[in-house]
Amino acid sequence: MENPWRNAQRQFDQAAELFGLHPSLRVVLREVKRQLIVTFPVKMDDGSVRTFEGYRVQHNVARGPAKGGIRYHPDVTLDEVKALAMWMTWKCAIAGLPFGGAKGGVIVDPKVLSAGELERLTRRYATEISIVIGPERDIPAPDVNTTPRVMAWIMDTVSMEQGFSIPAVVTGKPLSVGGSQGRSSATGRGVMFVAVEACGKLGRSPRGTTVAVHGFGNAGSVAARLMAERGFIITAVSDSTGGIYAPGGLDVDAVIAHKERTGSVVGFPGAGSIDGPDVLEVPVDVLVPAALENQITAANAGRIKAGLILEAANGPISPDADEILLRRGVTVVPDVVANAGGVTVSYFEWVQDLQSFFWEEAEINARLEKVITRAFNEAWDMAQTHGVTLRNGAYFVAIQRVAEATMDRGIYP
Ligand code: NAD
Repeated sequence: MENPWRNAQRQFDQAAELFGLHPSLRVVLREVKRQLIVTFPVKMDDGSVRTFEGYRVQHNVARGPAKGGIRYHPDVTLDEVKALAMWMTWKCAIAGLPFGGAKGGVIVDPKVLSAGELERLTRRYATEISIVIGPERDIPAPDVNTTPRVMAWIMDTVSMEQGFSIPAVVTGKPLSVGGSQGRSSATGRGVMFVAVEACGKLGRSPRGTTVAVHGFGNAGSVAARLMAERGFIITAVSDSTGGIYAPGGLDVDAVIAHKERTGSVVGFPGAGSIDGPDVLEVPVDVLVPAALENQITAANAGRIKAGLILEAANGPISPDADEILLRRGVTVVPDVVANAGGVTVSYFEWVQDLQSFFWEEAEINARLEKVITRAFNEAWDMAQTHGVTLRNGAYFVAIQRVAEATMDRGIYP
């Protein structure tokens, strides 16, 4: 089993080495600044009490408050949260957002909890991490298995404890409590902008370009829907229950409706069934991994058919797989660029909350396009200038910004 934290450090070390980063900055930036481990009790519906373990990790805050989502999953580990926190630092830096990187997680399968149990777990976890979060300190957001409703509970819990409403403590909230237009589709929309931009660089038209999407949740399903609107043909999608494949193309809106109705993409009429992992290997032009880490490893990288991979998920490609894909001439747009749309609109949400002044969706989407397109092109140009991969190009831009902030601030005391 690949360790995401070791992989995140390996990606950083490689970029830092190529970039010639000063050793004293290297030792600082390759570790996380702060890690909180909490074990907390939750009253279950049957009257019993269960304890859960959760984390909140801040990798770096040189450029501003820490920012990053909260994940509910049975396989969450401290090392996974540390990796996700480090990736957030680079992502915020490459997108030019005034944030550092953080992430949180709870070891839980939320699908087996009742709504009441989920609410009590969320409120207690929010209380436990309230010693490190806040609008000026660390601002959580949704990630795998956490929703606007979960964010509203976190906002309410922190607000109740302080005695007044603090909407800017968390982003990805419902519109009714200070959420932003466009936030729920922001990650997928960013993936779509990156897809169009990358196709342009590769001399390919979106129209008729075939796409497989592995992981049909918030990031994956919105990316599929918006890419289809731009003329891409989505031929295969999967979720944790399995995959579907229609070489002539899927009606993405109908697949989304089917998943909403049945809880799964499997059984969608008019498409063949395939195993979930096989969606990674179907013959397509573009692959969008949008589920979890380490789905593409040395074990299957040689069988990927796509020439372009957009990392909608965080860390879906292991460093060993990256090397294989590079040798095979596959272009990889790294997570820190491809899925930066979510944190970008989270930034817009935070700004709107602090100002109590809300923008229209068209303005948000236009600003998002500008940020993502610029981030992609900065990574692309850096990669071209230095003859490195797009991942290293993106890391060069990000590391340079974080290093500059660290140098300008100096080491305290
Ligand atoms: P989500 O919970 O909405 O969706 C996750 C999807 O992945 C679900 O459809 C689930 O069934 C599927 N899945 C899980 N295991 C799978 C497997 N083994 N094979 C195929 N599918 C599987 O989560 P999300 O928010 O869409 O997050 C997905 C990825 O995108 C994560 O890596 C997350 O960190 C990243 N991401 C999310 C956001 C965001 O704003 N939500 C932003 C940036 C990055």
